[in-house]
Amino acid sequence: MTRANDTMFDLVVTNAVLPDGRDRMTIACRDGRIASVERDLRAEAQRTIDAKGELVSPPFVDAHFHMDSALTYGMPRVNRSGTLLEGIQLWAELKPSLTHDAIRDRALELCRWAVARGTLIIRSHVDVCDPNLKAVKALLEVRELVRNEIDLQLVAFPQDGYLRWPEAERTLAAALDMGVDVVGGIPHFERTMADGAASIERLCRIAAERHLLVDMHCDESDDPLSRHIEVLARETVRQGLHGRVTASHLTAMHSMDNYYVSKLMPLMREAGITAVANPLINITLQGRHDTYPKRRGMNVAHMGLHVGHMTGDAEMRAMFDCVTVNGARALHRDGYGLAAGCWADLVLLQAGSVIDAIRLRPARLAVIRRGRVIAETPGVRPVVTLAGKTEEVTFRPRSA
Ligand SMILES: [Zn+2]
Repeated sequence: MTRANDTMFDLVVTNAVLPDGRDRMTIACRDGRIASVERDLRAEAQRTIDAKGELVSPPFVDAHFHMDSALTYGMPRVNRSGTLLEGIQLWAELKPSLTHDAIRDRALELCRWAVARGTLIIRSHVDVCDPNLKAVKALLEVRELVRNEIDLQLVAFPQDGYLRWPEAERTLAAALDMGVDVVGGIPHFERTMADGAASIERLCRIAAERHLLVDMHCDESDDPLSRHIEVLARETVRQGLHGRVTASHLTAMHSMDNYYVSKLMPLMREAGITAVANPLINITLQGRHDTYPKRRGMNVAHMGLHVGHMTGDAEMRAMFDCVTVNGARALHRDGYGLAAGCWADLVLLQAGSVIDAIRLRPARLAVIRRGRVIAETPGVRPVVTLAGKTEEVTFRPRSA
């Protein structure tokens, strides 16, 4: 065993398995940062957590959320067709009745749930198509209220179309002036393909001038001819935004022909575009106009692994990276990871590996932010009587 220097740590997590498979690891934290990651390190600390051979991960990253519409299911009514277009219509019906306090309180509740699940970095789009920017003001307040627990990044999102909604140019600029972090867009919802392309050009120019990141809803459609992603790639290169642009949803790609995609993918790579294959929503929204076979949108890690045929060992590990390190990279978050010098942001899961973390969607035994425990969940071990034996169930194969 090695021994750390004599200085007391704030928090030490012992006997942890790391996402790369290293086991018996000790993570020592001081002043909000990871000071040391070593096998079997013995160290004095204000608080010690024995991970008992369970997985410790950096926090989960939700790279695409809409916190202004969180927890509004059924308001003012349920989406009958299940389509994106009815969803946008429903949101337009709800918008006039929203209040600052209601948006803030629902978002805070959602943040509470996120902390409990170890999701400590969230990028949320916020609708700027409102003359009073009610949601923007509410979410800026939320960003400040949760800053010690969650890194909340906001995207100025012109839900009703940057060119289609008459005041969007003014309100989007005002939102950025107020401190919204990222420039959004929705080219496939503009009236024409030409308007969609024009909106991308103008929004990328705003981002370039203000030195901001870009994250556009792009081609969230089943239409294989919705090709705004190629325009976004071109503008990224033309306006010098390499590595700073994200394209969200991109579901039209499931319907594009192979030849076109073989041209498109190198364009995206050249521009360093991040693709956010989107949350649960696209498995629900896509293919609503199809008979059979029905196309499907892409999804979060557990389901995406199955839906996307990502079942090889390396592919499952890559999927865990998608909801951790890749998300942090896309959001340009510094100090993320499990090395000395990184933020002391950790999630202890009741799982022995990253593959089990996806398979079991396990309890988050402890969630740590800047070296401080901000959520704890007791582990769950059902006790089952079967074939004359009563035993605790771990949901893991027993070693022989
Ligand atoms: Zn979205």
